[in-house]
Amino acid sequence: MTADPTSLAGATAASEFRLEGARHYDRRGPARWLVSHLARYPLLALAFLGATLGVNVALALQPRLAGQAFDRVAAALGSPGSPPSLPVDVALADVTRLAGYILGLVLLLGLLDIISSFAIETLGQRLERDARDELYAALLGKSQTFHDRQRVGDIMARATNDVRQLNPMMNPGVSLILSSGLSLIIPIVAIGFIDWRLLATPLAFTLVFAIALRRYMRALGPVTGAQRMRFGLLNAGLAETIGGIEVVKASAQEPAERRKFEAAARAYRDAFVDQGQIQARYLPTLLLAIALAAAFLHGVELVTRGRISVGDLVAYMGLMGILRFPTFISIFTFSLVQLGLSGASRILELIETETELDENRGGHAAAIAGEIAFEDVRFGYGAAPVLDGVSFRAAPGETVAIVGQAGSGKTTLTQLVSRIYDVQSGRVRIDGVDVRDWQLQSLRSQISVIEQDVFLFSRSVYENIAFGLGEGADPAAVERAAREAQAHDFIMELPEGYDTIIGERGATLSGGQRQRLAIARALLTDPRILVIDDSTSAIDSATEDRIQAAIRRVMEGRTTLLITHRLSQIRWADRILILERGRLIDQGSHEELMARCALYQRIFARRPRAGEAS
Ligand code: ADP
Ligand code: MG
Repeated sequence: MTADPTSLAGATAASEFRLEGARHYDRRGPARWLVSHLARYPLLALAFLGATLGVNVALALQPRLAGQAFDRVAAALGSPGSPPSLPVDVALADVTRLAGYILGLVLLLGLLDIISSFAIETLGQRLERDARDELYAALLGKSQTFHDRQRVGDIMARATNDVRQLNPMMNPGVSLILSSGLSLIIPIVAIGFIDWRLLATPLAFTLVFAIALRRYMRALGPVTGAQRMRFGLLNAGLAETIGGIEVVKASAQEPAERRKFEAAARAYRDAFVDQGQIQARYLPTLLLAIALAAAFLHGVELVTRGRISVGDLVAYMGLMGILRFPTFISIFTFSLVQLGLSGASRILELIETETELDENRGGHAAAIAGEIAFEDVRFGYGAAPVLDGVSFRAAPGETVAIVGQAGSGKTTLTQLVSRIYDVQSGRVRIDGVDVRDWQLQSLRSQISVIEQDVFLFSRSVYENIAFGLGEGADPAAVERAAREAQAHDFIMELPEGYDTIIGERGATLSGGQRQRLAIARALLTDPRILVIDDSTSAIDSATEDRIQAAIRRVMEGRTTLLITHRLSQIRWADRILILERGRLIDQGSHEELMARCALYQRIFARRPRAGEAS
């Protein structure tokens, strides 16, 4: 991630939703971010560092004690030419004591090992959990504009796979790096104690090893980044194909979709092959072989010059051999760390993406009376305006119908009221206060939208109706709302009544039934402002009366923006707005418009009832 110093205000970036007392992490880069996450648990981190150090010291002490015991035995036995120098009973007592120490050491080693593993594993799990929480809260806080731009599958990949990557980065990644680092340092120190001249080769090796490791990490960075990115693309493609499966099947595009998937899967695999090639070119294992040869030559030379004994040479080569472990394991551990860093930077990127709207926590919060005023409003998704110069007013409790062809901007207009999007110029006021000055939570909780395409969660009917109230809505109130929305009867016919789980996207309910659930949802939250986007109107006439009744009921006493083509509904409206390509070309009552507006006459002369279009 390229950290832009001007976007340092990570913790204060605009957001539509923020957790109470949420922690602020350092988001100036993936490494800092990870460290600030780990800093939440200083005791665990210290326990891990301390215990790992202890384990390695204990490991180094063990052979020393064994060696001393060996010396005692040798002294007691003596050797040809030199009589025993230690009485057997003394030697036996010594050996028993030393054996006791070794036993104690082994027990300590086991205990420290448990502490170290426990600490790093807990750290890894908590890091994963906290990062996931942070990302989820950040996603909930993003504006609609942000979500419009994202591919769901890629977000999912980041929220699951990239987050998951943080755990193996800690354990075994960081955990092994620390122990292998110690198993590099300890032998070198031990070599220094044999003879300082012997340090030349291991130190030179360590230096070159460090340089090679740095180059390795640099080369691996882009490849692991590509790996994570391609996984995101693969997932995004899959999510889209499954999401649009009706279209794929209806147009028999399965083979084409399969080829696309295979191409994405191949690209993902290629990233692994690239990683493999970089690993194959990793030099330190070769360097170690050279270092071992050099060490041997140097050692032999020191022996021939009488500087060290043959025993020293044997010990030296033995210690050099220990370096094999840190060298060999580094390929694996550092690529885990690099993968974790790449994942972290993708998570951070998502968290840090600027979002346009702010929840405005300190903003105006009050009970809405229901006056809506648009003042010369202009808005567009891109450069071209979708709404331009729109002005109108609705008094509390009034119904304003919005009429216009598909794409004329009706839905967009209603989205400016609840600040799904913000105007580009002009103003939208509710009760005289600019919507941008309202506290977002207060504003949105008093506005309900019954949208064209009713979204139902894969939860029970009860939970879907009670959605706006969060947990713990009164079942009796839910049933009352369902009755008023004319939904109770069909709900009771479902296999488990209110406890029936609805399939994703409400596939098991008809359009009319879904709409009535949405009406019940709106009745339950008792909003002051209601938006009904009913322009699809793909509803059979048998259920129509019930829906009409439900809609009439839900509109009672609320300011309503009603998008519809049904003349019967339009007649209820106090005012009708006529939109054409984002411009408000006329507004007035049904009678006034019938008398003077050509477009309005066309719409209703041609189609006396129910329309389609969006
Ligand atoms: P209506 O509801 O009257 O059919 P909309 O408000 O949905 O019209 O759309 C108005 C225009 O804005 C259309 O040209 C549509 O393509 C465009 N539009 C709608 N939603 C988006 C979006 N999320 N991103 C970009 N363009 C959009
Ligand atoms: Mg629409």
